[in-house]
Amino acid sequence: MLVHCGMCSSSSVAGFVKCTRLCGALELCFKNKNCRNSPQRRKSSAYCKASARTLDEAATTGALGPESQQRSRSHKTEVVIIGSGLGGLCCAAMLAKYGVKVTVCESHSIPGGAAHAWVQDGYHFESGPSLYSGMAARGRAANPIAHVLQAIDEPLDLLTYNKWNVLLPEGDFMTKVGGSEFEDVLQQVSPSAIPEWRELQRVMKPLAAAATALPPAALRADPAVAVTIARYLPQLLQGGGDIRRLVGPFSDIVDGVVKDKFVRNWLDLLSFLLSGKRLRPNSKKSTSVAFMFNEWYQPNACLEFPRGGSQAIVQALIRGIKKRGGRVMLSAHVDQIILEGGRAKGVSLRGGSRVLASKAVVSNASLWDTQSLLPASAVTPQMLQNAAEIPLNRSFMHLHLGFDARGLEGLEMHHIVVNSWEGGNVVLISIPSVMDADLAPAGKHTLHAYLPATEPFALWSGLERGSPEYEAQKQERSQVLWKAVERIIPDIRQRTEIEMVGTPLTHRHFLRRHNGTYGPAIKAGQGTFPGPTTPIPGLLCCGDSTFPGIGVPAVAASGAIVANTLVPVWDHWKLLDRIGT
Ligand SMILES: Cc1cc2nc3c(=O)[nH]c(=O)nc-3n(C[C@H](O)[C@H](O)[C@H](O)COP(=O)(O)OP(=O)(O)OC[C@H]3O[C@@H](n4cnc5c(N)ncnc54)[C@H](O)[C@@H]3O)c2cc1C
Repeated sequence: MLVHCGMCSSSSVAGFVKCTRLCGALELCFKNKNCRNSPQRRKSSAYCKASARTLDEAATTGALGPESQQRSRSHKTEVVIIGSGLGGLCCAAMLAKYGVKVTVCESHSIPGGAAHAWVQDGYHFESGPSLYSGMAARGRAANPIAHVLQAIDEPLDLLTYNKWNVLLPEGDFMTKVGGSEFEDVLQQVSPSAIPEWRELQRVMKPLAAAATALPPAALRADPAVAVTIARYLPQLLQGGGDIRRLVGPFSDIVDGVVKDKFVRNWLDLLSFLLSGKRLRPNSKKSTSVAFMFNEWYQPNACLEFPRGGSQAIVQALIRGIKKRGGRVMLSAHVDQIILEGGRAKGVSLRGGSRVLASKAVVSNASLWDTQSLLPASAVTPQMLQNAAEIPLNRSFMHLHLGFDARGLEGLEMHHIVVNSWEGGNVVLISIPSVMDADLAPAGKHTLHAYLPATEPFALWSGLERGSPEYEAQKQERSQVLWKAVERIIPDIRQRTEIEMVGTPLTHRHFLRRHNGTYGPAIKAGQGTFPGPTTPIPGLLCCGDSTFPGIGVPAVAASGAIVANTLVPVWDHWKLLDRIGT
């Protein structure tokens, strides 16, 4: 039978097949290679809007899914949250637990922000985080997101592992988290550095203990913080000098102990992975590195991966919100924050609906994106100057692949490829279906390779998504990712069944992030992340533009801090009892 493609007007005897990716809405054109419906074009196309729907449908089965319909969107609530990143969802889930009526408005059709995921042809693609630890811990040592999930009674099914594959200029190593495992690598590369590594562990031990002296869940942004901090005074007094050292740059500690070039490069890489910042003077506060030492270099330490991937965390938080009467509205883009008498009173959505909030508006959008939601007359020159003075981290290149896994038994979940120690030449690769086989069809794997916040937005700012120039640049700039994957799976190009490349423009478009940035690039000793309150009464912020900063633990903490601030201190105190801190 001869069939006709409505998009490019070519006819084909081979006919058309249903496009599962576009939920059966389109047919594929087999005749014209350049047609937007052709399988060839689909293979190299960017993220697919309709695939979002697929995950949304998968994620919303049952009564607890987020709202995605356009019905009855205008309503009144107590707190409205702009954005369903992990920061916004943690804030909403904690507020719901405290008994506050809450609504989350998310612009995308999939919740989770940087942690969102989508399903295509049975492959589950993750857009962001995959490296987790401290989620199974309890009490003060637990990861802040574990505190939130514990508070809302939504435990995760955690899979554990302890190895990652590191391809360095010095050689390829399978390294492990845990006590003295890194010494095996040092034995091969730089045996004389072993005493320095041991000394660093000795120096970091009290700092690691000090880093857990005050759990972020204890913080709030009002004077009552003195009451909650008082719970932890004995540990804080004990850790006194160490706590002061924690807020200084990690490089100060390393400089006093480590001279070996390889160990310094390794620590630089860890610092970079934890925050996107190099180990240069004043580069990175010691706190997150001390947390990492606490979690990764203990005897029997392990890394964790939630069954179901990052979306399992997102869905757990949404269940926590919905079971207590909260709402999560998807495809609900906030156009403007409504001010009345100078106070934030709600939000207006694209399409005209309004969500009015009697207690507060909380923005989980970035600092720069939040400012653009305020009426121009409400943004003071001081606010503009503050935002302009905060430097931005760079953006990302992403490569998402679905591939045939035949003969690849024994593959690891995480791979780090350092092409050269100079110039941030690092590629991170995660293959989550290695940990959770349900994330890909049987016999297949799903892979995410990315440049971690090293791609300049300026290279892309003049281009239009979908234009021939853009597609050509995507091809060119993604080669570094392909080459890194080829070092792990040499015949990956032949095995690949689905391929998607993301750029800083993709990042900006789907995550609504100014210039596709990873977040503020604030250096230790040169300022702190802004706190959650703003000059606009009734408007608070959470997420990675807010204290304590970037990364899943930090944004969970920022969401919890905002929620704590909006409730009486005695409710907050009871919650701290409940999570055993
Ligand atoms: C590739 C990658 C890998 C990472 N790996 C790790 C890792 O392994 N471990 C780790 O700890 N961290 C990791 N991170 C960092 C971590 O994922 C982020 O710091 C964190 O998820 C950011 O959360 P957030 O809530 O601050 O913001 P976001 O996730 O950016 O969420 C903000 C949300 O607000 C929405 N929004 C914005 N404007 C509007 C509007 N006007 N109306 C409605 N909604 C709006 C956006 O659509 C978005 O959903 C990674 C990040 C990336 C990008």
